[in-house]
Amino acid sequence: MNPETMSRNSTKSKVGFIGLGAMGLPMAKRIVGAGYKLCTTFHRRREPADELHAMGAEVVSTPQDVAKEADVVITILPADAGLREVVFGPAGILKTFTAGKLLIEMTTGTALAMQEIAHAIGSVGGDTLDAPVSGGTPAAAQGTLTIMAGGDAAVLESCRPLLETMGTRIVHVGPVGQGKIVKIVNQMMAAIHLVAIGESFALGIKCGADPKILYEVIKDSSGYSKMMDLRLPGFLFEGSFLPGFKLDLMKKDVNLAIDSARAVGIPLHLSSEVAQVLAAASAAGKGNEDFSAAAQFSAGLSGVQLSATKDKSA
Ligand code: NAD
Repeated sequence: MNPETMSRNSTKSKVGFIGLGAMGLPMAKRIVGAGYKLCTTFHRRREPADELHAMGAEVVSTPQDVAKEADVVITILPADAGLREVVFGPAGILKTFTAGKLLIEMTTGTALAMQEIAHAIGSVGGDTLDAPVSGGTPAAAQGTLTIMAGGDAAVLESCRPLLETMGTRIVHVGPVGQGKIVKIVNQMMAAIHLVAIGESFALGIKCGADPKILYEVIKDSSGYSKMMDLRLPGFLFEGSFLPGFKLDLMKKDVNLAIDSARAVGIPLHLSSEVAQVLAAASAAGKGNEDFSAAAQFSAGLSGVQLSATKDKSA
């Protein structure tokens, strides 16, 4: 390991963080809490940057200024469009990215955009790690995310201690772009499981079953998925849809899967159906609610409430 990359292994390296949303803000707090110097910027709302400032972080005006200050830049934006703006835009990080700096890119986006960005960063002598995450906002706050790392294994090792401030399971999944692929596959399955819960529970409740009993029995049966633990208590059982993970972000992820399938010429029957449920729920005004609202939306088409008071079927 050369001296430049060795410095990434210690809290001496300065970390730039761009994208202080539901995931980014708690992740950035973990990094500051672990003793790293952190530099950030703000987008539409200044409050998340102010919270970090109160913890000792430096706040600058643009992504370009973040990359000028930092040895390692972390990005976690909603999707490709925001990411491209932050990298290639008029005040983007490429303007000041120099040899020896590292970009850790954690957005759920496409492999194609990731590879274009890695190429551009490489052309100025920088390194890139493709590192999307799973685990949601509770894991972001607790530092227990799963990180799917695509890129050079030595680059991953050069920043593993920094990644360990945010995640407990850090898996090297292949070259740059593979992190995005693994993440998209997870999202397809998560969305399918969620909508399956909505539809199946709707039938059970319509026929008189108690949703809590359905959960108790099925969590030890073959129909179980972890989505039941993640989205029945706290969301569907309470009829409470504060995000969490916004429905419009899940809609974006399932459409990334559909676009990827189109690019390689394969059909996706279930994901296409689920994309329609998410599109309909979004069009009904639920895009900024937690994505579990899609299960209630689906059940609602049958006049069924999934919340755990016995048989509210219409
Ligand atoms: P979010 O919408 O809460 O936050 C995104 C942040 O990016 C916002 O603060 C926004 O202001 C900022 N941003 C957007 N464009 C910007 C720009 N041009 N410059 C600077 N900042 C900009 O989204 P989130 O829930 O934090 O998700 C972020 C990413 O992580 C998404 O790709 C999402 O799919 C993925 N993800 C989310 C979860 C979850 O549970 N929320 C879990 C795993 C992965």
